[in-house]
Amino acid sequence: MNDTILEARNLTKNFGGFVAVNGVDLRIKRGSIHAIIGPNGAGKTTMFNLLTKFITPSSGKILFNDTDITNKKPAEIANMGVVRSFQISAVFPHLTVLENVRLALQRGLGVSYHFWRSKAMLHNLDAQAMAQLERVGLADYAELRAVELPYGRKRALEIATTLGLEPELMLLDEPTQGMGTEDVGTVTDLIGRVREGRTIVMVEHNLGVVAHLADTITVLARGEVLAEGPYEVVSKNPQVMEAYMGV
Ligand code: ADP
Repeated sequence: MNDTILEARNLTKNFGGFVAVNGVDLRIKRGSIHAIIGPNGAGKTTMFNLLTKFITPSSGKILFNDTDITNKKPAEIANMGVVRSFQISAVFPHLTVLENVRLALQRGLGVSYHFWRSKAMLHNLDAQAMAQLERVGLADYAELRAVELPYGRKRALEIATTLGLEPELMLLDEPTQGMGTEDVGTVTDLIGRVREGRTIVMVEHNLGVVAHLADTITVLARGEVLAEGPYEVVSKNPQVMEAYMGV
């Protein structure tokens, strides 16, 4: 297996006459946390939607483990081990925290209803779901309905439901968006804890989080790659400072 888990080659997305992502090359290193940052309108969300196959590129290619996934659907790439987190649909607000994770595990296994009528299987599944909750620091909240969770913990639950699928590559869309300092800390710690054995790509606004977690940062501006590298390098790049930080 080579060092690159995900690769975008000359990726372009036009909306009508407008080029939102313009010939972007991206290589995501296996086992790394890779952040995509940039000012508003830079093309981050478009790039994220392209990588997770929610939208189709106008041109260019996306490779996952050397397999061309450009024309595959989100469900197909999920089965290959590429999972996008923070889809609202991943969490059912009126189910308990434990039930949510159990359901995610069931869906991940994708086996028939009859299989789950076995009491032993359900028991086993509960144990697995509990282990998942412990992993993300939610064990104490197991019986609470998802809707009752504090905001930061909801995000932890979303990560827990994703982890049930044991993704090789996890894509996180602004994991700390709209959070106060304490929740940002909780989610940052959590991402740091669940990174082992997998690769994480995230779009993130909070530079503190990026500085703390990311091994590599790609800075987008006007749909193109402006700079790439570790935080220490990228943050000193004068073009980045001008485009991203407005200085
Ligand atoms: P970012 O996430 O970095 O703020 P986006 O990827 O959301 O940037 O948007 C990049 C540019 O593409 C913006 O100018 C935006 O208006 C435009 N854009 C995004 N999605 C669409 C769309 N569906 N139709 C038309 N223009 C779009």
